[in-house]
Amino acid sequence: MNPSLTCSCPAHSPMRPVALAEGLLAVQCDDCHGMLMDMDDWRAWKAGDASRVPQAVDDEVIEVFDATAVRHCPECQRLMQRLRMSAGPDFRVDRCVACQNLWFDQGEWRAIVSRGLAGRLDEMLSDGWQRRLQTEVVREARVAALRRRYGDVCIDELDRIRAWLDTQPHRDELLALLRAD
Ligand SMILES: [Zn+2]
Repeated sequence: MNPSLTCSCPAHSPMRPVALAEGLLAVQCDDCHGMLMDMDDWRAWKAGDASRVPQAVDDEVIEVFDATAVRHCPECQRLMQRLRMSAGPDFRVDRCVACQNLWFDQGEWRAIVSRGLAGRLDEMLSDGWQRRLQTEVVREARVAALRRRYGDVCIDELDRIRAWLDTQPHRDELLALLRAD
């Protein structure tokens, strides 16, 4: 990582080296506390001693300050891609495809670590993973719309009936019975 980078936040502070884990260095802005990591550094770290990859931390609550504005790569100034880390109302990390840099807003790396995902960044950033998240987002939006329309009590009851039906060996016959008068 280029040691003379300045942050793209309004303070334009110089970015200083920071250890993300044992053997994994990135640079951090003193002002906004954002961090920039080179995916090549991560890959080398991942390929090394597996015991350095931190384990998930149960029930750790992390405050994440996910910036919603588009970000420019501090290294090449190109626009960074925003990539989902989960389907929920969560946070996204920014990636510069050209430089293979990842940007973590304050708390984001810690949140990734606490979920046990520090060693799985390549999977999470893959097209397949991102597509699956997108599908999940669409599905969750559909369920939320149904709940607004019919109410939680109705949808909960529907879920309960569906779960019960799925356990029945004659599910389709029961469904047909239900539709018949
Ligand atoms: Zn870049």
